[in-house]
Amino acid sequence: MKRMFAVLAIILFTGAAQAGQKAGPRVFISVDMEGIWGVVHGNQTSSDSPEYGAARKWMAEDVNAVIAGLFEAGVAEVVVNDSHGSMRNIVADTLDPRASLISGTPKPLSMMQGIDGSFDACVFVGYHARAGTAPAVLDHTISGGVVRAIRVNGQEMPELGLNAAIAGYFNVPVIMLTGDTETCAQAKSILGDELVTVAVKEAQGRYAAKNLPLDEAKKRLREGAKEALQKKGQVAVFRLNPPFKFELEVNNSAQAEMPALIYLVKRSGPRTLEFSSDDYLKGFKLLRALIGLAGV
Ligand SMILES: [Zn+2]
Repeated sequence: MKRMFAVLAIILFTGAAQAGQKAGPRVFISVDMEGIWGVVHGNQTSSDSPEYGAARKWMAEDVNAVIAGLFEAGVAEVVVNDSHGSMRNIVADTLDPRASLISGTPKPLSMMQGIDGSFDACVFVGYHARAGTAPAVLDHTISGGVVRAIRVNGQEMPELGLNAAIAGYFNVPVIMLTGDTETCAQAKSILGDELVTVAVKEAQGRYAAKNLPLDEAKKRLREGAKEALQKKGQVAVFRLNPPFKFELEVNNSAQAEMPALIYLVKRSGPRTLEFSSDDYLKGFKLLRALIGLAGV
């Protein structure tokens, strides 16, 4: 018996050493931009606008405050996936050097690229509310120009829900979310009250918010991350039940025409497309492809 444990220990140790892993939890962070401190308008989140430079700096600062809290709580490794627009928003050398950065697009799992079953927890930073929420800064779902609503098994989903189900697919719990007040409330209603949320701004409209004093925001992000990792065992993994029925409601009927050509997809209304999948990841990828086609 003792020998068996010794062999097991050697296998585990060799495995960890081979992967270059340190002991302790591994955390995956997906970071969007609309829910970042200071951001209230599309001119700040578009790379062709003069206001963008300041917002991408704030984006790195919000993530860095979260990373600092995670390391204070004993995390071994942090992987950050840049998840907005071009997905090249964070200037690589402005990220906390202890974390790795996934940068650029397209990538198969989009905002969740890089996650797998080896992570112990997932954190969403700078997230926003689903299309049709008010008051909520820059509310939309995946594509503001195309998507009016996305439902999975009848439940209308913001990006945070769609992405939390990807984490759930890999058995990883989402332990923390940051964004505006309304997004935090939406996250708790879907992911549960044990989720740690940090509202860095109070939404006062689609293009207006009252930001926390900067130092206070950073303090809350740091302390929130520390608390979230410490109580990660209390948060349930978010899972939806198969078969997964996806419904995509587009903004106008023309946008439904190209996606409806795919034989797996049924056009159930002038602006509504639906399909089912037994595998959530396959369904999510088809959904993304349909949104891409709808925008053509
Ligand atoms: Zn975004």
